[in-house]
Amino acid sequence: MARKRSLKIDEEKVVMAKRRYCYSFEEGDGTNKKLLGGKGAGLCTMTQIGLPVPPGFVISTEANVDYFEQGSQFPEGLMDEVHEYMEALEKKTGKGFGDPKNPLLISVRSGAALSMPGMMDTILNLGLNDDTAQGLIALTGDERFVNDAYRRFLQLFGKIAMGVPDAEFDAIFEETKEKYHATVDTELSAQALAEVVQRFKELIKKRTGRPFPQDPWAQLFLAIEGVFKSWMGKRAVDYRRQFNITPDMAHGTAVNICTMVFGNMGSDSATGVGFTRDPGTGENVLYGDYLINAQGEDVVAGIRTPRPLRELRTDMPEIYKQLQQLRTTLEKHYREVQDFEFTIEKGKLYMLQTRNGKMNAWALCKTSVDMVKEGLITEEEALLRIEPDMLEQFLHRRIDPDFKQEPVAVGISASPGAATGKVVFDADRAEQLGNQGEKIILTRIETKPEDIHGFFAAQGILTSRGGKTSHAAVVARGMGKPCVSGVEGLDINYELREARVNSVIIREGDIVTIDGSTGSLYLGAVPMLDPELPQDLATLLEWADKKAKIEVWANADTPEAAVRARQHGAKGIGLCRTERMFNEADRLPLMRNMILADTPEERKRWADKLIPFQRQDFLEIFRAMNGLPVTIRLLDPPLHEFLPSIEELITDINRLKEFSQIMHALEELPGTVAMLDPELNKLLPSLEPVTRDFAEVRARGLDQKLLKEKEQVLKRVRVLYEHNPMLGNRGVRCGISYPEIYDMQIQAIFEAAAMALREKIDVRPEIMVPNVCSAMELMWVKPRVEKIHKEVEKRYHVKIKYKFGTMIEIARACLRAGRIAEVAEFFSFGTNDLTQGTFSFSREDAENKFLPIYNTEGILKDNPFEILDEAGVGRLMQIAVTEGRQTRPDLKIGICGEHGGQPQAIEFCHKIGLNYVSCSPMRIPIARMAAAHAAIKEEKGLEVIRSKAL
Ligand code: PEP
Ligand code: MG
Repeated sequence: MARKRSLKIDEEKVVMAKRRYCYSFEEGDGTNKKLLGGKGAGLCTMTQIGLPVPPGFVISTEANVDYFEQGSQFPEGLMDEVHEYMEALEKKTGKGFGDPKNPLLISVRSGAALSMPGMMDTILNLGLNDDTAQGLIALTGDERFVNDAYRRFLQLFGKIAMGVPDAEFDAIFEETKEKYHATVDTELSAQALAEVVQRFKELIKKRTGRPFPQDPWAQLFLAIEGVFKSWMGKRAVDYRRQFNITPDMAHGTAVNICTMVFGNMGSDSATGVGFTRDPGTGENVLYGDYLINAQGEDVVAGIRTPRPLRELRTDMPEIYKQLQQLRTTLEKHYREVQDFEFTIEKGKLYMLQTRNGKMNAWALCKTSVDMVKEGLITEEEALLRIEPDMLEQFLHRRIDPDFKQEPVAVGISASPGAATGKVVFDADRAEQLGNQGEKIILTRIETKPEDIHGFFAAQGILTSRGGKTSHAAVVARGMGKPCVSGVEGLDINYELREARVNSVIIREGDIVTIDGSTGSLYLGAVPMLDPELPQDLATLLEWADKKAKIEVWANADTPEAAVRARQHGAKGIGLCRTERMFNEADRLPLMRNMILADTPEERKRWADKLIPFQRQDFLEIFRAMNGLPVTIRLLDPPLHEFLPSIEELITDINRLKEFSQIMHALEELPGTVAMLDPELNKLLPSLEPVTRDFAEVRARGLDQKLLKEKEQVLKRVRVLYEHNPMLGNRGVRCGISYPEIYDMQIQAIFEAAAMALREKIDVRPEIMVPNVCSAMELMWVKPRVEKIHKEVEKRYHVKIKYKFGTMIEIARACLRAGRIAEVAEFFSFGTNDLTQGTFSFSREDAENKFLPIYNTEGILKDNPFEILDEAGVGRLMQIAVTEGRQTRPDLKIGICGEHGGQPQAIEFCHKIGLNYVSCSPMRIPIARMAAAHAAIKEEKGLEVIRSKAL
């Protein structure tokens, strides 16, 4: 035993010793994003498919994981390997790291498996110090360029590796610009930039107590460590939590070390970002922004407003052509739209990054359909590109085209959709107001990753700087929120908390509307229209339906909802909740009378009065769903929900009693007054008309009649009162206690079906009994259904086909499914109640009482009312499916709880063999896509990534 153990340890040692951390761009496996991070994998792939990438290497994510595992210590051997790879880089470039004569400068960039704002830290120009800067000036003869590179390095290094706040560097830079009357940074002279360099070095010393390290190796060590640490930075951790990014999906960040190339070496140099297709519209054109004589961060941070890439065709025609070819190469290789960064150094193009392009749902659908038509991808690949939840973006509103008012300013259409809200100038305040339920437009000069919480809180984003690829634009598009960027006429003053545009002042809290599809900014709220689904989506959903094994039905209670459901492609109604039909003003009094009736005969009398209303509703729904099944659930909620509350009644009764007393006092008033002072009698005639009218009310006994009625209702409400109404006399229990109610509903269903048949409508009613826990309950209801069915068929001379089934929403029903299936022809899982019962969590209270604590304490990962609890609730469902089908192999099974529209739950339902999911009409496109994904993933044996889409 002991021997075995030591052998094991030795093996581990061997494995540890063998672990390598560095991979050159020529070596790294571009498909292994988990090891190399997305950026590193892209650099390796691009190098290996022959694209121009500056030489470099990747330190793997494993190094970062080991760093934390070893108590924030560099893993043994890491820096030796880094030295080795740096030497190779020196050889490849013919430059020396720290060599003043010919200095090698590098960029150090983070990059995890998933792109993750909050951790996107990049240090450029590492290797610069006072000596190498002088050497570089001698070499290039361009002092301005070198000083500019040096100050950039100092700021990024100071921020990431030494923790000096970014804003303090910005403030010095802005002061210098003001001092030299420069509006843009390119107007600063070499001398002015040298001043900036000096002040930045002083700032680092003052802030950290340590001088800026002149030794390039010390710089490299600190930079790698800074990137490592950023993985556990607050913003990155928050982001991972928000989007459920588990270690399985991204564990640690890689560090990418790449030879510097310069886009700021004059007018034949530039830097830019591109998309292989337009990410806003999906059009198949090269798209992006660039800036001449600038470094990468200028474009991404939106510090200067860049120019559209199409203008590069005239500026640098050869490079433009090269980019066009490159776009085809990238798409052929990745079979996906790419978002890339490039730099042009003295007329030579270099690729610095590529990744799958984030697009809005419109562009995603268009590119998916186009790429299938172009033969680039298959229909299945096209479907898998679209996270079902993304389709939610089609549900965004847009400005009514009839609205003709001119916008107050126009910027760049950075992310489509329109939004109205209060202007708020910082992310913290946006978060605070957003939490209070306010609608917010986050308004910034430019945004940075630390503003992410403001994005979550806001309806839309507005910036005065930056293009379509600025931080604001990219993040907003990913979230499907409208964004207008680069509104140059918008002069934002954070201190005064106001923005000026032309002569208009917009103060914090003022309402504005932005239209991210046109880039327009309007004052006040503007009329909006609900969205329509684009044709490309219809095509994709047709492909989805071909693949899907599970059908998508709708929860629809009204004819309008049924029409919408059908338009969105529902294959039936899986849940028509009849109780909502009783709440309308003309029906509620009848319903109340029926509930308050003392005898079954009286109850039936009132129930009969409700039949015409119910029948009409059902008839209209049958018309809308011609040819498709309509599952109608018999009354479910406890009856007291239709009655006034005890408190309400007591208040009314007290008021009526007070009225009676006041009236009595008024009638007695003349005598009382005379008793006090006969002189006052003169005043009394003026009171007479009032008392006369009230006296009549009393004489007719109106107040007493009402009082009696209210007291009777109160008595009945008290009788019906239950301590736990959701576990009380509801659903089938109520149906059995008051059979007249179910009889009335069953009659209305069959009569509506008979009338529809006479109109030649293909009706397929399915009668569903709620809250069943035993087959015996169904056996009690079924003969009544059969009896009424026969009567209606006879009366209308028609044959009505129907199904009789049950909700499965009680744990016992799952465990007795085999027996229940002897009576029920179909099951529909009511996972709202089933979750409530399985957890014994009140669904009305859990979400705002203890669930948040359970989530933050990690006791429960998700809210089980939102994300189906596969382990518990799912297990019960599985038992019900298996045992139900053992009894009745053709048992039709669906789900109609809220989870029915949730992609992850749909996948689960597919796996356990349900026939359909039923969800709200607006979620049908999402569910259809999710149903297809489930089938394709199963077929291809693909692993499911459980995360919210972004
Ligand atoms: C359910 O319980 O899942 C269900 C659909 O019924 P309701 O939400 O109406 O109780
Ligand atoms: Mg229920």
